[in-house]
Amino acid sequence: MRPAHRYLPVFQDVLGASVLVVGAGAVGTRKIESLLAGGARVTVVAKELSPAVEERAARGDLTVLQGTFHPDQMEEAELVFVATPDRALNHRVSAEARSRRIPVNVADSPEECTFLLPAVVRGEEFTAAISTSGRHPGAAKALREFLEDHRAEISVRLERGRRRKRIAARPGKVYIVGAGPGDPDLLTVRALGLLRSADAVIHDYLVPAEILSLAPAKAARIRFARRGRTAGHGAVLKQNAIHEAMVRLAREGKSVVRLKSGDPLVFGRGGEEAEHLSREGIPFEIVPGITAAMGCAAAAAIPLTHRGRSSSVTFVAGHETDEKGGSAVYWSLLPKDGTLVIYMGVGRVAAIAEELAAAGFSPDTPFAIVENGNRPEQRVVRGILSGLSRIALDSGIRSPAILFVGRTAASLPYEITGERSDEPVAQGI
Ligand code: SAH
Repeated sequence: MRPAHRYLPVFQDVLGASVLVVGAGAVGTRKIESLLAGGARVTVVAKELSPAVEERAARGDLTVLQGTFHPDQMEEAELVFVATPDRALNHRVSAEARSRRIPVNVADSPEECTFLLPAVVRGEEFTAAISTSGRHPGAAKALREFLEDHRAEISVRLERGRRRKRIAARPGKVYIVGAGPGDPDLLTVRALGLLRSADAVIHDYLVPAEILSLAPAKAARIRFARRGRTAGHGAVLKQNAIHEAMVRLAREGKSVVRLKSGDPLVFGRGGEEAEHLSREGIPFEIVPGITAAMGCAAAAAIPLTHRGRSSSVTFVAGHETDEKGGSAVYWSLLPKDGTLVIYMGVGRVAAIAEELAAAGFSPDTPFAIVENGNRPEQRVVRGILSGLSRIALDSGIRSPAILFVGRTAASLPYEITGERSDEPVAQGI
């Protein structure tokens, strides 16, 4: 038999509610304790009382009607709990409660209940209820324990979700947003919120499809750069086209996310774009991202600074535009006792190796190249400067890759551990 009005309440509190509990054994006592904790006015009907209930009664926390159940005892009840070993009695109490339309719960007998009590996990600002309709109490308990173990994580996720909801790109504004080095998990909460609410996304080739897919399906996606470098006049044209697109879309009232790999202000032309928007009177905001140097350093366990090994870190462009005629970096002025991080250098790695040697970097200075850092196809190649050009060539390193030079680039004396350590790592080639 299935009662018609079965429901599954999670009591926020039972403060002041008048509750009748029939039976005061182990199960009944547990119910009584939680009802009292919730502030219920409890009346207990039982032939025998557990010591705990007896103590409660002596303190006047509850009313005890010692003896057998009688329907009149239900007169005041708003809720009825039954937990006796006597099945016939349980059935009788349940039938009586239902005839009076009082919600009733019979322990371990879901078919006699008009409401069930789920297993409950309460965390900061959430209540999770688990029910298997009384059929698999063991599974419900296991699930509850699992959720209890993850209570803090659930609270953090709820908070993140709430914050993300509050973050929404505004119409007529341009957001110059760093997308991080590739792994969507490395987006900032703000970047994700803006991306999810954008009308238009203007991005460069380094931003992976997985991140772009986070923008709404209806958002316009505009990609300007092809893989590889656009030199000289071409680069200027491309940059002008980006400037024009940002301004036009913002003036059309669109919320525009200008999505750049890594951080927009590290070799990302974010500064030029901000200048242009400000000249045109378009409101804009810059949202930082994890730059390749930091993402790749973490992925390869390269400390950018390290006590006794490196007290400075310098970000260098290994490749400048053609108008500048190769590299515009004064290699000899760079600190030799810190960490050098060379972006956009793989195409010119042989020349860079020569420039470093000419600048006085010792041939046995360690280096590491991280290719496709923070992506599934990540590779790390290490060596010392005297072998840089040969090793880079032999291992077929391709863009995007970043070069670390300095004592910190050597393998650490400990293993890289953590869930990402099983990704392809070619060390010590
Ligand atoms: N604004 C970006 C840099 C753009 S310049 C940032 O802050 O990271 C492009 C260069 O960045 C590439 O040539 C390469 O040197 C580096 N780079 C970007 N993503 C990379 C990645 N996932 N792995 C290795 N290097 C990367």
